[in-house]
Amino acid sequence: MKKIGLYLFTNDLRINDNTLLHRASQLVDELLCVAIEPKLSTYSIRLSQEQENGAHRHLFIKQATDDLALSLARLGQRLFVLERNKSEDLVQLVKSQQMTHFFASSHCAHDERQLIKDTLTQCPDLLVFQQHHTTLFESDAFPFELSKLPRSFTKFRLQVEHLEIETEERVITYLPPAPHSTTGSYREPTLRLDDSKTGDYVGGEMAGLTHLENYFSRDYAGTYKQTRNALDGLENSTKFSPWLALGCVSPKTIYRHLKQFEAHRGANDSTYWIYFELLWREYFYWKCLTLGTSLFGRDSKDLFNKQLLDTAAGASFAKWKSGNTNYPIVDACMRQLNATGYMSNRGRQLVASCLIHELGIDWRHGAAYFESQLIDYDVASNWGNWAYIAGALNPQAPQNANKQSAANQSQSKSRHFDLVKQTEMYDPEHTFINKWHREDEASTSTRYQDAI
Ligand code: FAD
Repeated sequence: MKKIGLYLFTNDLRINDNTLLHRASQLVDELLCVAIEPKLSTYSIRLSQEQENGAHRHLFIKQATDDLALSLARLGQRLFVLERNKSEDLVQLVKSQQMTHFFASSHCAHDERQLIKDTLTQCPDLLVFQQHHTTLFESDAFPFELSKLPRSFTKFRLQVEHLEIETEERVITYLPPAPHSTTGSYREPTLRLDDSKTGDYVGGEMAGLTHLENYFSRDYAGTYKQTRNALDGLENSTKFSPWLALGCVSPKTIYRHLKQFEAHRGANDSTYWIYFELLWREYFYWKCLTLGTSLFGRDSKDLFNKQLLDTAAGASFAKWKSGNTNYPIVDACMRQLNATGYMSNRGRQLVASCLIHELGIDWRHGAAYFESQLIDYDVASNWGNWAYIAGALNPQAPQNANKQSAANQSQSKSRHFDLVKQTEMYDPEHTFINKWHREDEASTSTRYQDAI
């Protein structure tokens, strides 16, 4: 009997360091490569008050998918794109093609896991292959059960940072052909024509690997710890996040380059700190997996029992989104986000703190707006960081609350940044603030001229 497989690309839009795709290439006679276009969920539409993903995020995803289609075409394959993330569409593909094998990256987020679960329930005869391959570690490498994931980052880091990381990459030189009879929306491989619109960030594995090589070919990694908090500047932090988020580049590939950099130019605090930050990403990933829907605050009734935002809060939220709060540092960061789809880590902390503490708006609105705009939107890192700043990362069942250790209690406190002090520290000359206030004035006057 012919073995026919479906490979579902989700957060792993790449050919390199893709062990699951490599496995598929060896196991089946025909392979249908499928991707699903990420859309804003109904929950996030409601909270963000945006109807769809922002232009920068949309373009970055499109470029990444185009690039994958091009790489697949080089291997004689095609990319079939599903517009809806509905299990019915996947089931229909599986049944119409009489698929025997199913391959998909294991995911940490509830909705993505549910999609696969629903599909597999309706196709019980499929042989299923899944793997967490957008992380540094597999869960079975940990010295603890996932259900006992340490509550704080520090405890997690201390238990995992010395574990060995497998970095050998399998090169894919062959893929089985696509089934002949599939008709539908294949993504035609196109050369990228609209790169200029994304400025510094172009989606896709090729651009991601080029960025990685450029970054480590200079000395930036050797001074990362001193520069990483800057609000601006391509070279000040790694800017790996957009490609990591869509899985165009794997964290193991980054780790391998980091180790090579250390071997050639020496290890120091800064090179360790890049690994340290990748461990934050790892922590949020496994946290997201273990928390399920409670990470999104979806289980708590309070948000939807009352009117979503009253008139005053609705107006403040709109001003926060457009960068018009009258907190100059916050406005500059939000304008940067709207103009580029990216914001520095320091900026994200400040605008989140402002939304929660200065404007008194529920953190979930901010998280959902970030989801719609960030080119590096990653479900675990985004909702995890927002919940961390809001003090909501470790939801505590009331009956256990009094058993909490002092350390855990402090981790559950929200983080409030003093915006004046932070401006003095990170933008003392107001260079960043002035840049984004000027940019905004320029675009307003252009819009005004256009209107005339
Ligand atoms: P670098 O400083 O160079 O760090 C290297 C890598 O480590 C990053 O690419 C990223 O993968 C990881 N990393 C660094 N800081 C964090 C962190 N705090 N949490 C998790 N991983 C981290 N990151 C995302 O990738 N996607 C998101 O949607 C996202 N949303 C965020 C929302 C808020 C409110 C906050 C405070 C942070 C968020 N972050 C998110 C984390 C962090 O801001 C970005 O990863 C970082 O700014 C990306 O820039 P970089 O690649 O230059 O990071």
